[in-house]
Amino acid sequence: AKQAGRNTYRFFAEEMNAQAIERLELESRLRQAIERDEFVLHYQPQQSLVDRRIVGVEALIRWRNADGEMMQPADFIPIAEDSGLIVPIGNWVLREACRQARAWLDAGHPCIVAVNLSARQFRGDELVDAVIGALVLADLDARWLELELTESLLLQDAETTLETLRRLKAIGIRLAIDDFGTGYSSLAYLKRFDVDKLKIDQSFVRDLLSDPDDAAIVHAIIEMAHSMQLKTIAEGVETQALADRLRLFHCDEAQGYWFARPLPAAEIGDFLRRHAEP
Ligand code: C2E
Ligand code: CA
Ligand code: CA
Ligand code: CA
Repeated sequence: AKQAGRNTYRFFAEEMNAQAIERLELESRLRQAIERDEFVLHYQPQQSLVDRRIVGVEALIRWRNADGEMMQPADFIPIAEDSGLIVPIGNWVLREACRQARAWLDAGHPCIVAVNLSARQFRGDELVDAVIGALVLADLDARWLELELTESLLLQDAETTLETLRRLKAIGIRLAIDDFGTGYSSLAYLKRFDVDKLKIDQSFVRDLLSDPDDAAIVHAIIEMAHSMQLKTIAEGVETQALADRLRLFHCDEAQGYWFARPLPAAEIGDFLRRHAEP
């Protein structure tokens, strides 16, 4: 039995070792990915449920690694966050999204670009400089940039966060709360932070038609948001029926496979052209 125990231990040790090595490898490949220009942004349209116009697009990162595999955010964002690499990666996302927004503007179909921020990017005071730098580099007005923040991000060190958000708002940037309703937080922060939009998490949207609790939650979020002069967008809208119900609830906008999947920038150009008019 002793022998078996030792073997089991050895097995776990080797297993853990292998995992740690794999992680380190991934981290060093991620580190090189920026210089090698391996990241790509796809963009998912956000549609107005009122007049069907495209109101914006969300930038979603992908990584075409050295083996040519397309890695999804879930495969590398957690490691980028743990290692701190999310800061340079996030700055690249900001610059690339602003450059693209400028290109769409020049092509005659202006469009707001929403960028996801990790909590890590909010530590330290480089974020505001990075945002301003990206705007200046692209010669882009701040009103074309929206930042998506999570509730957990808003819960860290309240004073610094408040100050950072105040500076971003002062520049004219829009702020949205991502995955709204999934955090543990109280709603008190909505009073303190000057945000523009709530993104209703897909977990509440998915079963909206069959689950009365989800319907009640979504309806309540929309009513509350509107009474606070906030816009609402539903995430993960996969069917026409869901879009119809959300419209009945007076949800302002929808994002999801029903309307469009995340697409390469070149395809978004066409999309914007076709959906320019209501
Ligand atoms: P998120 O911000 O909640 O983004 C929405 C995710 O839902 C995207 O997954 C999108 O492709 C997916 N989605 C869109 N419509 C539908 C739908 O109708 N049904 C379903 N089931 N899913 C839908 P993706 O692109 O894999 O991104 C996953 C997460 O990775 C994002 O969640 C975001 O938290 C993070 N992420 C993506 N890009 C960035 C980035 O540039 N920076 C940071 N920090 N995080 C990012
Ligand atoms: Ca998001
Ligand atoms: Ca989300
Ligand atoms: Ca999410």
